[in-house]
Amino acid sequence: MKIHEYQAKQIFSHYGIPIPKGRVASSADEAKQIAEELGGKVVIKAQVLVGGRGKAGGIRLAKHPNEARDLAAQILSMEIKGLPVRKILIDEAANIETEIYLGITNDRSARKPVMMSSAAGGVEIEEVARLTPEKIIKVHIDPLLGLRDYQARDVAAGIDLPREHWKSFIAIAHGLWQAYLDSDATLAEINPLVITSDERLLALDGKMLIDDNALFRHTDFAEMRDLDTEAPLETEARKYGLSYIKLEGDIGCLVNGAGLAMTTMDIIKLNHGEPANFLDIGGGASAEKVTAALKIILRDENVKAILLNVFGGITRCDEVAHGIVSALNEIKPNIPMVTRLVGTNAEEGREILASAQMMTAQTLVEAAQKAVMAAKGGIA
Ligand code: GDP
Ligand code: MN
Repeated sequence: MKIHEYQAKQIFSHYGIPIPKGRVASSADEAKQIAEELGGKVVIKAQVLVGGRGKAGGIRLAKHPNEARDLAAQILSMEIKGLPVRKILIDEAANIETEIYLGITNDRSARKPVMMSSAAGGVEIEEVARLTPEKIIKVHIDPLLGLRDYQARDVAAGIDLPREHWKSFIAIAHGLWQAYLDSDATLAEINPLVITSDERLLALDGKMLIDDNALFRHTDFAEMRDLDTEAPLETEARKYGLSYIKLEGDIGCLVNGAGLAMTTMDIIKLNHGEPANFLDIGGGASAEKVTAALKIILRDENVKAILLNVFGGITRCDEVAHGIVSALNEIKPNIPMVTRLVGTNAEEGREILASAQMMTAQTLVEAAQKAVMAAKGGIA
């Protein structure tokens, strides 16, 4: 899950990282009011979950509260990379001397988090990595030991940071590591971390990605989720406890179990079809869940056929079959469906489904072949 700049900076601030004074607003008048409170020059920043807001015109400097109000109105009417701007951050403007990059992410191949820093801050790190990779300093952090002092010093030296800023930089590096660790983040980034003209370090921008699988222990983060940036069907699926990811193909998949869902997608591809989604209805799928899942699949206009692949373990096939029948009674889809049921109470499940208008298959390969044919218009 992505969180907004203002939210990331608030978290950073809890960890002792200096951030500019400021507040979030959702109207131009509010922006003016905040600018008055702050006094002096302010920066108005679109809160959308994409990078490069600066280039897109979503970051503007204002000298007076009235100018802040006008610019706020402009930014609030913008769309940046397809996302509407609903909130803006009004921060005290900084006088920037130097822009530095400092971030932590997971390095999967090293199986460790990695801290990265570059004296070429302000631009996207991917750009720096492409054009001048030697400018990026990396240190891997042992998750059990945490960031060591000497590592933070190595980073400071690596980016040729002037000595007088080391103490503050090292404290920021530790704060960022602790924020990353405590938040179960997969990315925590300050870009730019600036040296101001009055010789202070300040985190001007903040970006964090939180591991979705850890959200259960961060209920406060769950409230930060910005639904504007998610596919609406994925939001709907989460309500019912379904794991759904929309893909580009035309065969809808309804499967119990994540591993089985992956296998189902593979077998569809092996038979020259393309899955329209990943969907795991989980264990003990009730009629309500199956109905919700079918509805979500059918709302995708690309779907030309549906493959239901159910393995009855703890979940009983007859229970799922009941779910399917009641879902069909409610929705009555007019596209071909293929089911494959095996495992606990599969026989009972098939009998229940016999009354429903659908193709059945004995094996997964057969089911995939039928679904692919059906999607191509081969079976009516
Ligand atoms: P991003 O473009 O989405 O990454 O947004 P940032 O918050 O990183 O801002 C982009 C750029 O705008 C920064 O690299 C700065 O050069 C500039 N900027 C942001 N805040 C301020 C500020 O308070 N004062 C000045 N002078 N420039 C700023
Ligand atoms: Mn930035």
